[in-house]
Amino acid sequence: MNLAVWGHLWTDADREGDVDAIVRRCRDAGIGTYLCHTYPIARNASGYFSPGLTYDATVFQAESQDLLSPLLRSAAREGVEVEPWLLPFTADLLKGESREDLFPRRAYQSAEYAGLVPGIDTEAPDLPGAAKNGATLCPSWPENRARAMRILDDLVERCGADLTGIDLDMVRYPNADTSWHHPCHCEACRAAYRERLGVDVLGEEDLQRPGVAYELTRFRNDVIGGMVEEMRYITSKAGLRLTMSARADLYDSAVLEGQDWPRWAREGLVDAVFTMSYWTDREIHLGHAREHAAAMGSRGSCLHFDGVGRRSSMGENPIDAVLDLARDAAAAGADGVSIFHYNALTNADFQRLRPLAD
Ligand SMILES: [Zn+2]
Repeated sequence: MNLAVWGHLWTDADREGDVDAIVRRCRDAGIGTYLCHTYPIARNASGYFSPGLTYDATVFQAESQDLLSPLLRSAAREGVEVEPWLLPFTADLLKGESREDLFPRRAYQSAEYAGLVPGIDTEAPDLPGAAKNGATLCPSWPENRARAMRILDDLVERCGADLTGIDLDMVRYPNADTSWHHPCHCEACRAAYRERLGVDVLGEEDLQRPGVAYELTRFRNDVIGGMVEEMRYITSKAGLRLTMSARADLYDSAVLEGQDWPRWAREGLVDAVFTMSYWTDREIHLGHAREHAAAMGSRGSCLHFDGVGRRSSMGENPIDAVLDLARDAAAAGADGVSIFHYNALTNADFQRLRPLAD
């Protein structure tokens, strides 16, 4: 079985002392792919952090300390694949940008926040459990997508000689519990609603009509799918694999958020799909693994790595449960598993993974 692990480069290097040790640990555990986060991360309860960027980026305002280049060289020697994440809609500022250029104008805005629903406080409250109003960049803006391409171009230009692949993460609209139940009303989304549906305001009740729901999903999938096609063109030209971290809740999240990854797999837009399927309930996890395999159909050469959480926001799986979930994934037809996340695995856990790879 193919094994991959998600990591957070600053935290993992800090744990191991140097990046070579990350590669050695992956190699010894039979992990063929290390997918690493290379952006700043605020301190949090999840146990990962980064004070700045960890690759040789030139487009960001934040400080960079290049851990990726030595990691890539070490990985090439040891035969381990390293794929840094690309966060297309990151809120980290690029050079030449100010916060006012982006927020709140080019960010997700509920109808209430945008002041389009009379009688509701337009100072606007964040929705419970939702993406923050005015703070999460909305993919509907061509400028926001151009910015994503600028980040990609820089990554390929700075690291392309040593890179073998890039993993797209958060390539979608904000979580459906926000963006579907309270659709975005930034200027770009409203222009699309007027163009496609003849309305300026789109409420949850409108989306009860299947045709209206279809138009909104089609719009979002045109936007995100079109950007992924452009990214595929750039990465193919550079000889790089393009993979993606996929929303595991396919029909209640991914497709509604413009992330129709089964189509991307079927049509060869991506080389591998890593489903973020971190459930702790074995039956639920297996049901999703089967659904994912079915949705991708004859996926050609695109690989499916079924996600397994060791520890995530969805809970914690002891290592024995991780092994059971991995075997379930293989039985459901996955080509491998990707484990979340490196620093949640103990030294002993890594050794327990080895037999899965053999
Ligand atoms: Zn919008």
